[in-house]
Amino acid sequence: MGSGPAGFYTAKYLLEKQPDLHVDIIEKMPVPYGLVRYGVAPDHPEVKSVQETFAKVADNSRFRFFGNVELEADQQEAGIGGDWTKSRAEQAAEEFSQTSLPKTNVITIEELKKHYRGGVVLACGAENDRKLGLQHEDDIGKVLSARSFVNWYNGHPDFKWVGDQIDLSKVEDVVIIGQGNVAIDCARILTKSAVELAETDLADYALEALKKSTVKRVQVVGRRGAAQASFTIKELRELTRLEGVTVSIDANELAQGMTAASEEEVACSRGGGRIMELMKTVTQETSDRAEGAGPGAERDIKIRFLLQPQDLLSEEQPLQVEVPVPLDIGTKLDLDVTPLESSSVGAKVFELKRERSLRGISMARTALTGAKGQQKAMVLKDRQVEVLPAQLVLKSVGYKSVRLKGVPFDSTLHVVPHTKGRVAQADVDPEPVAVEEGELLKKDGGMRQLSQTLRGVLGEEAPAIVPASEEKKGVEEESSVTPLYVVGWLKRGPSGTIASSVTDAKETAASVLADVAKGARPSKADPAQRIPALRASTVIDWQRVKQIDSYEVSMGERSSPPRPRVKLSDVGEMVGLKKALREKAQAKKSKAN
Ligand code: FAD
Ligand code: NAP
Repeated sequence: MGSGPAGFYTAKYLLEKQPDLHVDIIEKMPVPYGLVRYGVAPDHPEVKSVQETFAKVADNSRFRFFGNVELEADQQEAGIGGDWTKSRAEQAAEEFSQTSLPKTNVITIEELKKHYRGGVVLACGAENDRKLGLQHEDDIGKVLSARSFVNWYNGHPDFKWVGDQIDLSKVEDVVIIGQGNVAIDCARILTKSAVELAETDLADYALEALKKSTVKRVQVVGRRGAAQASFTIKELRELTRLEGVTVSIDANELAQGMTAASEEEVACSRGGGRIMELMKTVTQETSDRAEGAGPGAERDIKIRFLLQPQDLLSEEQPLQVEVPVPLDIGTKLDLDVTPLESSSVGAKVFELKRERSLRGISMARTALTGAKGQQKAMVLKDRQVEVLPAQLVLKSVGYKSVRLKGVPFDSTLHVVPHTKGRVAQADVDPEPVAVEEGELLKKDGGMRQLSQTLRGVLGEEAPAIVPASEEKKGVEEESSVTPLYVVGWLKRGPSGTIASSVTDAKETAASVLADVAKGARPSKADPAQRIPALRASTVIDWQRVKQIDSYEVSMGERSSPPRPRVKLSDVGEMVGLKKALREKAQAKKSKAN
């Protein structure tokens, strides 16, 4: 389940190593590649070229793709219904969105396990956000997760609402909380010239919004010091080379974070010295500019350290919307709305709900405490507070995996617990679970740990764990449970690059292959014929993926300036593609005339 790097690399190794094996990838989006399409920055096309490797995997005759089919998420955790994971603004955006999305086909874990007897690999990534825990974090439309912003500029069909929520032509100051590479991506996209962005596969609507952007100052804020920033040198250097952009670091902030433990961390880490050198150069340039030695720039990115978010500064104001009349909006949307005035063009202005407008965010100064590698940010006793003006705040503090219905989940770490990619299942099997004795017993107390984890996740219902050798029969005979595996961010948590998926996928694939060798039963009948969601007319197969791909690429070639592709961002269009192909034919015809 899931067609990001983790899913595709696992498929690749399974197909390569076992010539009889068939792999189906089931993906909730109509198109494949996960964060390679909807995460990786549009101005990094060289990273996206990994898609070619994945497309070769898909060309294998033992591979099939089922797009637009979603594995059922846990309702409470996924925020369907009573929601705590999505912000109110996000929910409102969803409620009001006028999309024509065909419903995604839903598949359950029970269906998968019943029909894919050889095994099910979960590669669903991290589809939610960590939160800051600030008051009004969820009530202010201009406070967004970086994930929402990234999905929006990358043309993710479910995130077009972001454009309605943030009007970049009214924003001058942006604060980004967090100092990972995602934060750097966001800072770069917000400050790079629209001329350069126009040559990328950035979503059309995002390009239009960025062309009108009045953003002048972006602050990328870390709660810890320079030595603990998690962005990498390549990404920081790229920022410093942006045309019309200055990058600033304050000398005092840099120095305050360099505790003895920080010095040791820099000395011990690979590349730590080089990135510190770059930060020192930026700091020197910042001081020179302050003394009038350097040129001014249109936009400034400040890298700030040792600041912990305290309060979002906002004020409540009515949000008014204009809707065409007649429209039975009160009934249709189940809202208590007040008509304020009528306009002559057949529209009515309604006060829908009160909105909080954002003025800025206050930050408390911190200091580092703790030993090398474990330093924490502690708010200083005198609670020095600095207010950062902002009309837009992006929270870039990490993605978070979603609990899938019927799948064990560690609610603290937000991952599926596993041993070398094998998920210990207890939910459906009343019998003791057979596990790999050798692997678990290698570590002292491995069995006990697994038992504890299961008990933490499942409580009293957790099964007894016994080594496989103590079981009377072999895996394939004794257990009626289809083996379940996990890979990628759902297995490791939301960090690491595409390259880290390689080692990870090899480990999970090795577990699958070992179980297959031991005789895990293959499916007798074609699962796709037995699961209704896989037979729906709105399922996208690999042939349609290729049609969409060549359509997008051809639209890109025809653009001026040429672009790698023009992304379709409407599920209806991707499922049908008729409208898109009609337009293509029309354009071809008019070009010929
Ligand atoms: P994902 O890529 O997220 O894939 C998960 C897939 O599962 C998705 O296709 C999703 O739609 C699908 N899915 C989710 N839930 C379900 C469900 N219920 N049913 C069916 N399908 C489901 N790494 C680099 O090396 N270079 C970069 O430049 C880079 N840029 C990045 C930029 C951003 C903004 C982010 C967030 C990450 C970036 N990374 C980059 C890291 C890289 O993208 C990840 O390491 C990698 O994508 C993780 O792979 P994955 O397969 O676990 O998850
Ligand atoms: P990340 O690297 O883990 O960074 C998260 C940042 O959020 C850290 O600075 C962290 O600070 C901060 N943070 C977490 N909780 C916080 C809180 N409560 N308050 C304040 N700050 C908080 O995650 P990411 O940027 O989302 O990136 C995810 C992964 O994708 C990374 O491995 C990254 O390298 C990869 N990626 C790679 C590229 C690329 O190769 N070009 C591009 C994008 C992403 P602390 O350290 O203090 O916790």
